[in-house]
Amino acid sequence: HELLAGQFAGAVGNARAYAAQRSRAEALAELDRAKTTFFANVSHELRTPLTLLMAPIADALADAGPGLPAGVRDQLTLALRNGHRLQRLVNDLLEFVSIEAGRASAVRVETDLAAFTAELAGVLRAATERAGLRLTVECPPLGRPAFVDPRMWEKIVLNLVANAVKYTFVGGIDVSLRAAGDAVVLEVADTGVGIPAAELPQLFERFHRVAGSPARSREGTGLGLALVRELVTLHGGSVRVDSEPGVGSTFTVTVPLGAPDAPAEGPATPSD
Ligand code: ADP
Repeated sequence: HELLAGQFAGAVGNARAYAAQRSRAEALAELDRAKTTFFANVSHELRTPLTLLMAPIADALADAGPGLPAGVRDQLTLALRNGHRLQRLVNDLLEFVSIEAGRASAVRVETDLAAFTAELAGVLRAATERAGLRLTVECPPLGRPAFVDPRMWEKIVLNLVANAVKYTFVGGIDVSLRAAGDAVVLEVADTGVGIPAAELPQLFERFHRVAGSPARSREGTGLGLALVRELVTLHGGSVRVDSEPGVGSTFTVTVPLGAPDAPAEGPATPSD
């Protein structure tokens, strides 16, 4: 009896703990939803005034002749650059929110992924060279069709390569793409500052930034990697990082080669 009573008490305890944990999880989920809605509303409200604020500055700069004092031109240029920064943040937040709300989906189209990836990496070649870094891009033809959402793939590649430039001071960045089975593997490797092992589990969480990490610029939101993970997940793929402080980091994205999106309507084609 004592044994049974003990077991019963244990079970009740477990059930209580379970209920407490569950309501805590529900409360957290509720909070998370409220936060997402809040971000969505704020971002949305910021968009229009931001555009209205920047348009006259851009116009003033474009219309002003050579008579515009250099100091004023510099101030306006600075204002415009920071406005663009804020716009990127607002857009990232809105994109993030729409993914989280389950409103976004990858629209897969057949893409020459090797050429596209090389072109995207090339967009950052000037910035890489300005930083005195090497950039190698190895994207041979995959030899089979790949279906991705091009706009999302662009964000994935640009975010990873831009990060590599931002957190690398010597050496360089290697971008490569290859097919592996039914998937395509993108690797962005750098010889940068690296990431402490303790930080790795939270690295892809939104707003997570490694405190004290040396960077080429402090500019950033901690949204880049979270967005990369969401976009990769929308493709049914995964992203991982291997890193060693002082040596460098390698981000590996694996995404199924995919198939065209099924037509929304129309009769099914007979198989033979
Ligand atoms: P951020 O806007 O801060 O760059 P991300 O989400 O892109 O946000 O990255 C989150 C954090 O991960 C960064 O703040 C940085 O500390 C770390 N990180 C990302 N990429 C690299 C990299 N290639 N090398 C070293 N640290 C990196």
